[in-house]
Amino acid sequence: FKPFEAFQQLKNHALFKPLLEGGEILSAGARAIIEGGYQSLPKVEMPGAMLIGDSAGLVNVPKIKGTHQAMRSGMLAAEHIAETGKCAGWDAKLRASVVMKELRKVRNIRPGFNKGLWFGLANAGWETATAGLSPWTLKNHADHSALKKVSDYESPKRDWTERTLPPRDRLASVYFAATEHDEDQPVHLKVADTNVCITRCAEEYDNPCTRFCPAGVYEIVEDEAGKRLQINA
Ligand SMILES: Cc1cc2nc3c(=O)[nH]c(=O)nc-3n(C[C@H](O)[C@H](O)[C@H](O)COP(=O)(O)OP(=O)(O)OC[C@H]3O[C@@H](n4cnc5c(N)ncnc54)[C@H](O)[C@@H]3O)c2cc1C
Ligand code: SF4
Repeated sequence: FKPFEAFQQLKNHALFKPLLEGGEILSAGARAIIEGGYQSLPKVEMPGAMLIGDSAGLVNVPKIKGTHQAMRSGMLAAEHIAETGKCAGWDAKLRASVVMKELRKVRNIRPGFNKGLWFGLANAGWETATAGLSPWTLKNHADHSALKKVSDYESPKRDWTERTLPPRDRLASVYFAATEHDEDQPVHLKVADTNVCITRCAEEYDNPCTRFCPAGVYEIVEDEAGKRLQINA
């Protein structure tokens, strides 16, 4: 499945195309929503750094609201630095704060939908009525565990058409996002073992990173030395 292509196909669908034809893309952007919430909070302090806002995953997912959480955690973090002068202790302070209290109330709503729409809706009603007082906490699943092996997956017939609306491809699209990088910026994406990319990952998963990245950052290239992962960052 190619998320970028699916979105372009939607724009080129007979229902939407007449609305967009003749228009011009001035700028474009998209971002993923951080859904983990209360159960997925990482350790938010480390030597020289503290996580706040979306970098810590503080969005209230059922409300799709995170700016107030970002601001509150930012203010608390500033307060912590002013009081102690160090990052140590920030993790405990955030966990004991109103920011986490809010996330705790809604913690079971998003994972409830993993059991299906009807269960999810009933569960959301219950959790809202009880303000999250249920004595249980539903688990999140690890993201990678949702990935199917190519051998276990049959792609549905998609009937995708030839596209005529811009952008032409992912790179043309990234141009409209106006991202800026220094030419000599060190690559910040680290893959622990790139041998896996051309062996097990290629065979079992068909290199998913080459499809999910909207900027085409991950590429499998082939040269005299053979196939390898190239990170265009
Ligand atoms: C589709 C969608 C709808 C949403 N709707 C709402 C809503 O209606 N109300 C609401 O309250 N919240 C909403 N949210 C959530 C809200 O947008 C976020 O929770 C909030 O913006 C988080 O703020 P932040 O400052 O933590 O992170 P961000 O807003 O993500 O800010 C991080 C900034 O850092 C910059 N950055 C990243 N890397 C670097 C780097 N290496 N160097 C320099 N800068 C860098 C980014 O460009 C970005 O500007 C929505 C989110 C999504 C995805
Ligand atoms: S090809 Fe991509 S998805 Fe596969 S192991 Fe390498 S980095 Fe990960």
